Amino acid sequence: MADPAPYFEAAARGVLALQRCAACSAFAFPVRARCARCGSTDLGWRDATGLGRVFAHGRARRATLPEHEGRLPITLLLVDLDEGVRIPARLAAGERAEIAAGDRVAVGFASAADGTALPVFRRAP
Ligand SMILES: [Zn+2]
Repeated sequence: MADPAPYFEAAARGVLALQRCAACSAFAFPVRARCARCGSTDLGWRDATGLGRVFAHGRARRATLPEHEGRLPITLLLVDLDEGVRIPARLAAGERAEIAAGDRVAVGFASAADGTALPVFRRAP
């Protein structure tokens, strides 16, 4: 089982880190033990640009996590990062809810109820 600790350590510094295959250079998300492209187990960690495009979005009107309480509705996103991986996240608090597939976004982090840093995205300038 791959260790996700480097992801959370980077997130606590406000940086999005991704696994990257040393054999074929493919990025990976979520954390895995083998590269999905070539099967190598030689995966290291790299800081990502934090930039991507909205692939899909939706509104959540019920709280599924404690940190959603008092913030509903929230906008959930699937973001295609420039590194070629798709990650689930939410739109940052204070961002206009209207967002479209293809919009450029940049990552930031918000604290979950347990103190974990969760990725949130804002429109990229
Ligand atoms: Zn690979």
